[in-house]
Amino acid sequence: MLCHAHRPRGTAGQALEHELRCFAVFRRVYVQRDEVRQIATAVQQPELGYTFRVGSLVLHAIGQLTPLQMASFHSSTAIFPVGYEACRIYWSMRHGNRRCRYICSVEERDGIPEFTIRVIEQGYQDMVLTDTSAKGVWDKVLGPVAEKRAESGTLKLFPVYLKGEDLFGLTVPAVAKITESLPGVEACDRYSFRYGRNPLVELPLMFNPAGCARAQPKASSPYTSVVIRPQPQAVSSSSARSNQNVAQGEGGAPHNKPPVVHPRSSQYRWMKSEWRANVYLGRSRIQGLGLFAARDIEKQTMVIEYNGTILRNEVAIRKEKIYRSKNRAVFMFRIDSEHVVDATLNGGIARYINHSCAPNCVAEVVTFERGYKIIISCIRRIEKGEELCFNYQFESVEGQHKIACHCGAPECRKWIN
Ligand SMILES: [Zn+2]
Ligand SMILES: [Zn+2]
Repeated sequence: MLCHAHRPRGTAGQALEHELRCFAVFRRVYVQRDEVRQIATAVQQPELGYTFRVGSLVLHAIGQLTPLQMASFHSSTAIFPVGYEACRIYWSMRHGNRRCRYICSVEERDGIPEFTIRVIEQGYQDMVLTDTSAKGVWDKVLGPVAEKRAESGTLKLFPVYLKGEDLFGLTVPAVAKITESLPGVEACDRYSFRYGRNPLVELPLMFNPAGCARAQPKASSPYTSVVIRPQPQAVSSSSARSNQNVAQGEGGAPHNKPPVVHPRSSQYRWMKSEWRANVYLGRSRIQGLGLFAARDIEKQTMVIEYNGTILRNEVAIRKEKIYRSKNRAVFMFRIDSEHVVDATLNGGIARYINHSCAPNCVAEVVTFERGYKIIISCIRRIEKGEELCFNYQFESVEGQHKIACHCGAPECRKWIN
């Protein structure tokens, strides 16, 4: 059936020659649309205000789990991310023939999940119910609903067949696919995975945490919370004292050679020609993909450059809006109060370096060859095969969406931002 705009132009329904009468094709057509990935992106950034709907369920936020929460925040059939929120449209507890909204959410209380339902019905005050299980809290709704429906003689419901986790939406395939891909969920040992590993939700690769630029604009510097901050003391020019940096030696110098000192500019040129031999991309032990040392690297060696385009603040703000409207992860790196390096489109492989609270590398801004460069150098000797990481130093902004850290370091601060 063709819509008005595509209906044949010929008179009296007769198609003109060559005009299509319908879109039927006699071969298979595959329409590939990664819906689940789109949903994951949307519900990972609740401040964007996206929701998605499956039948009578509207998902608001997927939430997340820190490594310590994994053990208690799952059952054999569902994972319970903290911060999860969905709205279920279901029969009213007050009127046999009406439906109302049940906002289901998961929070943490004393180290275990707390399941909450906020009952929203027109003409009534919101009611809040909580329990330590999804079933427990839904039973508080299902009992009264069954009574009302018995009274009004409507079809009897069988609460015994309704599972709290289902009503919460946690077992809905689209939701389960996302919760199964949350960082670190492999640690949910009682849970049986249905969809396997599919990294839909990933930790930030140096992108701004949760769009805070718009949520909390800062008068002085609109980008402070959007970008990774390099080590402040490292901002230096190539002609200054930093010319004298140890390129080799320390740690791994077995034959007692005096350390060879190279000017930073020559270190930089060496790195530019050699970086491919320094790193390889692999499956990260922190999360998703990561960058690894392809050989032993001595302390203070420049490992790789983080490429990008230098933008003035105003341009960066405009670009960020464009990227966000296209649902792209934004990779920006502050170099001074006026400039930002935008690596969203051409950041290169250095973007895959994960955050760690106990890093082996550092990101520094240096000026070489008439421009700013962001260089990743190691702060200790790194063995071949070690994963490279540095501290993103995301600024923590009050009220901002927190991102759980999975670096696994004993001194882990639990949150990336
Ligand atoms: Zn049409
Ligand atoms: Zn950490």
